[in-house]
Amino acid sequence: MKKRNKIKILGQWVTIEHCKLPESDDEEVDTILGDCDVSTRTIRIDKDLEGVAYTRILRHEMFHMKVGLSGIGELLDLKLEEALAVLAEVD
Ligand SMILES: [Zn+2]
Repeated sequence: MKKRNKIKILGQWVTIEHCKLPESDDEEVDTILGDCDVSTRTIRIDKDLEGVAYTRILRHEMFHMKVGLSGIGELLDLKLEEALAVLAEVD
């Protein structure tokens, strides 16, 4: 998948930044490969990811953005949203 710097999700432009993400402060998470900030409409993805790994993380973060922008996130607990985001990584 070609790396794009902007993508439209639910009619809104979302910025995609390819960068080095900060270390995780969550003991259960080793490395953060992507994150999603709905308030600033920004997805960040580890700049070293390529190919299938890149596509999976992009789809994962796009799912979080879609859930956040739509307001459906208000209805989901975080564990369920995370499980669904993992499901959204693959066809
Ligand atoms: Zn997630």
